[in-house]
Amino acid sequence: MYGKELFQGVCYVSGEKMKIRFLFFLFGLSILLIGCSGRGETAVFPTPATPATLPTPDILPPTLFPVAWQDRSPFAAGLIAEARPVLDTLPQFPVYHLVFTLNDTLTAVDGQMQLYYTNLENKTLDVLYFHLFPNLLGGKIEVTKTQENGQPVTAVLQSEQNSILKIPLKKPLQPSQSTIISLHFSTQIPLTTGRNYGVFANVNDILALAHFYPQIAVFDEHEGWNIAPPAPAGDVVYADTAFYLVQVTAPKEATIVTSGIETARTETAETHTLTIVAGPMRDFYLAASPRFIRHTKTLNQTTIHSYAPPELEDGAKAALTTAATSLNIFNTRFQTPYPYTEFDIVTTATTALGIEYPGIIALTENIYNPNTSYIPGLPNTILLESTTVHEVAHQWFYGLVGNDQLDEPWLDESLTQYATLLYYQDRYGTDGAQGFRSSLENRWARTNYANIPIGLPVSAYADNEYGAIVYGRGPLFFERLAEVIGEDTFDRFLQQYIRQFAWQTATTDTLKQLAENNCGCDLTPLFREWVFPHESELPDS
Ligand SMILES: [Zn+2]
Repeated sequence: MYGKELFQGVCYVSGEKMKIRFLFFLFGLSILLIGCSGRGETAVFPTPATPATLPTPDILPPTLFPVAWQDRSPFAAGLIAEARPVLDTLPQFPVYHLVFTLNDTLTAVDGQMQLYYTNLENKTLDVLYFHLFPNLLGGKIEVTKTQENGQPVTAVLQSEQNSILKIPLKKPLQPSQSTIISLHFSTQIPLTTGRNYGVFANVNDILALAHFYPQIAVFDEHEGWNIAPPAPAGDVVYADTAFYLVQVTAPKEATIVTSGIETARTETAETHTLTIVAGPMRDFYLAASPRFIRHTKTLNQTTIHSYAPPELEDGAKAALTTAATSLNIFNTRFQTPYPYTEFDIVTTATTALGIEYPGIIALTENIYNPNTSYIPGLPNTILLESTTVHEVAHQWFYGLVGNDQLDEPWLDESLTQYATLLYYQDRYGTDGAQGFRSSLENRWARTNYANIPIGLPVSAYADNEYGAIVYGRGPLFFERLAEVIGEDTFDRFLQQYIRQFAWQTATTDTLKQLAENNCGCDLTPLFREWVFPHESELPDS
């Protein structure tokens, strides 16, 4: 997530700096080319240990797709070669089968879902919870015909605006046991950008279809089921890694763009039906428009597409170039490469600057015209570049390494901002990165450099604090950490962090522990100064 109000008042490239930056761009490019030429295959993709699986009796076979629940073979095509081994080592993650239709006006979804869910906790579960985000985001979702393993179950709506669906299980689900939830859903899509930046809306003939299906909540050892509604200012969802088999039928004139890859397509006179495989991924996102034109680049095993209406072609091409460059820089920096064979960029009417989804990012139309300034004083070309890089970096911090985006947003947002600084350094050199670095200082300056901790939940920050602290002070913490433990140690720590927590969920404590393991030092004082809540901010004080 990258919001305009999180950015307001920031101008980090003056005319003079633009010239300097261009020179450093040429210099940085030559370094990049030299750095890449002759480089061997150094990336090592993580392969977590295979968890034990207990036999689960009486499990319902899939009825929407002729693919066994544990059959991972369809997903191989969406992963680069280095990432494919994870298909054999992540057998128990949730599997979604989604079959749905978009209506003629792209304003409603009607569909069916089956979810294969395994209890990965060491605690017996009596109920499952699903998020019904459309009920919070200005639209509406209705769920009917809920079943567990083919037997009807009575689901219960609860929480703010009926945004949580509770499904009592027929039998308690023991650790490592699996069950199948089947349901029908129909979703109404709002025609205005409402809460949470219009991530779920059809505006200007572009459908942004985030969070449209019932999504299983995360159960974790810290707070049990994570079913609190998201704060309006931050990201919507905290999710576990999952697998998605999807079939969508839509009006033929609408270009459909999604997480994952299209594996089959059939057509009638009025509609087309796309089969899509996506995963391992934490979410499934779809955008659609009759006005989308596609531009394409290739980077190693990954095809990058950029979709926008024809009048926004300049922005679509610029975002495409920046995405390719930043993916390349991060592949080298982080050593664990972007795992998918496709990366998509769409422009939507979102009121944020950009929003990350697995394998796809949505960027606001407002920053695509290179001759205007959405934020006064800051050319759109600069804003589009930094926003694209920010959302690309989220593919590692949020996508690959998960975190609780509601309770510990700094783990993805501050790291993503720090990664964006690394992009500027690697592409334009240290001096060329000064403009972006100053923007981080300027953000923090909006609170007069208050020592507000960077490690608080989204909901704990006042309106002007969230952007200033998590997006400004947060990345400066990582710069400080690199100074304290040394650049080489920091690089090793960051690469190990991605490798160790890929497809899993990291926490503030696990990040700190890993950094301490790498430096052989106690980082508690540094984390007290920058990260940890002050005594007065702890919930029980
Ligand atoms: Zn973000």
